[in-house]
Amino acid sequence: MRVLKFGGSSLASVARFSDVAQIVLQQAATEQVCLVLSAPQGVTNTLVELTDLAYLGADFQPLLNQLCQRYQQLLQDVAGLSVEQHSQVQQLITQQIQQLGWQLQGMSLLRFCPDHIKAQILGLGEQFSVALMTALLQARAADAVALDSVQLVKSQGDFLNATADVEATAETFSHVLAKTPASVYVLAGFVSSNDKGETALLGRNGSDYSAAVVAAAIRASACEIWTDVDGVYSADPRQVKQTRLIDRLSYDEAMELSYFGAKVLHPKTIGPLARVQIPCYIKNTLNPSAPGTCIDTQGDGAALVKGISSLEHLALITVSGPGLKGVVGMASRVFASMARSQISVSLITQSSSEFSISFCVPQLHLLAAKKALEIEFELELQNKLLRPLSIQADMAIVSLVGDGMRQHQGVAAKFFASLAQARVNVVAIAQDSSERSISAVVEQRSCQNAVKVCHENFFSHIPSIDVFLVGCGVVGAELLAQIHRQQAFLQQRQVKLTVYGIANSKQLLLAPDGIALDDWQTQLPQASKQFSLAELNRFVQEQHLTNPVLVDCTSAQQIAEQYVDFLAAGFHVVTPNKKANTSSLDYYHKLRSAAQQQRRRFLYETTVGAGLPVIDTLQGLINAGDELLAFEGILSGSLSYIFGELEAGVALSVVTAKAKSLGFTEPDPRDDLSGMDVARKLLIMARESGLMLDLADVEVESVLPASFDASGSVEAFMSSLTSLDAYFTDLIQQAKAESKVLRYIGEIRDGKCKVAIKALPIEHPLAKVKDGENALSILSRYYQPIPFVLRGYGAGAAVTSAGVFSDIMRTLSWQQQV
Ligand code: ADP
Ligand code: ASP
Ligand code: MG
Repeated sequence: MRVLKFGGSSLASVARFSDVAQIVLQQAATEQVCLVLSAPQGVTNTLVELTDLAYLGADFQPLLNQLCQRYQQLLQDVAGLSVEQHSQVQQLITQQIQQLGWQLQGMSLLRFCPDHIKAQILGLGEQFSVALMTALLQARAADAVALDSVQLVKSQGDFLNATADVEATAETFSHVLAKTPASVYVLAGFVSSNDKGETALLGRNGSDYSAAVVAAAIRASACEIWTDVDGVYSADPRQVKQTRLIDRLSYDEAMELSYFGAKVLHPKTIGPLARVQIPCYIKNTLNPSAPGTCIDTQGDGAALVKGISSLEHLALITVSGPGLKGVVGMASRVFASMARSQISVSLITQSSSEFSISFCVPQLHLLAAKKALEIEFELELQNKLLRPLSIQADMAIVSLVGDGMRQHQGVAAKFFASLAQARVNVVAIAQDSSERSISAVVEQRSCQNAVKVCHENFFSHIPSIDVFLVGCGVVGAELLAQIHRQQAFLQQRQVKLTVYGIANSKQLLLAPDGIALDDWQTQLPQASKQFSLAELNRFVQEQHLTNPVLVDCTSAQQIAEQYVDFLAAGFHVVTPNKKANTSSLDYYHKLRSAAQQQRRRFLYETTVGAGLPVIDTLQGLINAGDELLAFEGILSGSLSYIFGELEAGVALSVVTAKAKSLGFTEPDPRDDLSGMDVARKLLIMARESGLMLDLADVEVESVLPASFDASGSVEAFMSSLTSLDAYFTDLIQQAKAESKVLRYIGEIRDGKCKVAIKALPIEHPLAKVKDGENALSILSRYYQPIPFVLRGYGAGAAVTSAGVFSDIMRTLSWQQQV
């Protein structure tokens, strides 16, 4: 005989009842079936709510009516019942609702709800399922008989959370089955009775456990748990996307997973089956042909880690003090007091000095646990042999489970590194001595992120980058186009890069499934939100994003000033905006320590030389012990273009207008011509090489002569440039006469920074650099007397965006290092 258990999710509607009947009939054709049923989905919760309402003296009648209607609807919709079958179920409904009404009324009057009455009430949904399913099976010509599990399944202990007695259950079954031949037995899960015959429940979600107890009692050939998923997954599929279905699990693994919160199985289910080695299958009612998960003695030796589960809503209690040290029996007193109060303890750690014992209890039982400990240790607490109990509420346990872990090193390291990557603070740790599971106690609010990142690192191997872009001008828009083109390629390379937010100075567009990048221009103006850290942070929390990256493609000081806060909130920051790195030194250091503390990256490769690998190269050299002796460079793409054209004989006013119209300059060309942009780049280089200077320390000689009045509107300025044409022609001619060319150069020498027009001999390496190219010549301890030279386009939307893109991708290496 096989035991088939169908959970509430498999009995949520008439269609599901019918699917279940179909599955049962098919199986009964080859082997006797013992069917164990839950209440229809939601019914037990309604019954709990009804008892709560009655106990509080509130009006329970409307909810009772709703329950009655739900039953009636299910009965009414079932097709093919005979009049007699229909009236039998109808009778059960009428009786049940009437009696329930009376019980609730009594409870409401007395404001009293004894557990044994509560147990009777909460088990009613299962009785209904049995009546309706038996009628349905009989209507489909099955030889089906309903049996009374209250009498048949025996248990001990609490009325609401009893422990089954398999031997006693085997005894009752042996009598009843012999007397009642049938091909399908239909039983209620969840309910049982104690040795006095009083109804006792096997705990919430206990029908799985009922099925296992029945299977063990009748020595079934298999126990099948039918639910709404294809089997046991590597994590809760409701919490984590891209979970993996597990084909096989050992009993031990299944026990650990369910004990640590995998809701697909009640934690007590596996025990009775493992003892008599009955295989257990987890199957999907909505997809019966799927093979499901098989749980047996062997499991699957090949896979290292099988799954990740989480147990939520816990409190961590720590008992500590000198009274614990070396005193025999203290730990046993702690746990005996919990057992006496019927409080289950889910994780225990003890410090090696025996100075403290920490353990988790359900948050719901926290007060009771505290009281029990205070009574147990009244004297020790009074005499200060124990410190006051330390209680950390709102905790969760994240566990990694797999038999294979014990033969492998490094699993625990990867687990904790993953938690660090998710920025989860580990409060306590436990590993079972069989090394089958490792658990960490974390704050409840970080639990989902912890599971997600651990799952990513152990299973899906598809790390994610969650982008929020602010500033969609030329570079920002080009970046979005590049990301759009590249998304499929990255997906193939197992990287999920998603743009969740785009903002300009007016609007912020957020999309929980990512923004469609072929359409952001039409969506953004319709967005109603505005860019702020609080708005982005809320979104990240709600969507449980684990690798958020703020990409700042503005040149705004006001955004740059928020980087430290973004880093502190767990965002990486990637930017071509030079403002942050050229602000005060205090802010410069704060940025770096915030990034360090939060294990987040602050990347700004494109602030100097656009896409050229300047910053990274310089950092690499300095890290390897190199030292900057001197630096010389053409750091502005626009000025490189302008000086190249001047050399070719084009007038200043003409070339500036041309550069502006080609988009080579800032919207206001004075920003380039003032030299401030180059000064900022030079300062970034200087600070990178260890010179802690401020912007005011950079000597800046503007491209335009000091006597020239550069004030007024952009248009007025542009037209007044003609007055300088002759001046520049002269300068160029003078240089030419000496076989020199003019270049706008940033220079670091003897600890000082200077930006100015310089006349360079034509054989000088920088003399050849024009047409928007940048060139950087680094003379260092390792690179001398011939300097290290980097040369290439240092401006333009495409190369700058590509540089930003490459920085965005580098936020990933931080993940993959762990
Ligand atoms: P039933 O009503 O059949 O008893 P449950 O809701 O109790 O169903 O259990 C099934 C649910 O368990 C699934 O829908 C799934 O969301 C959840 N679950 C949690 N962890 C896991 C896991 N590791 N694998 C599969 N399902 C899981
Ligand atoms: N119906 C019960 C509950 O919801 C038992 C079960 O479904 O397993 O807790
Ligand atoms: Mg269940």
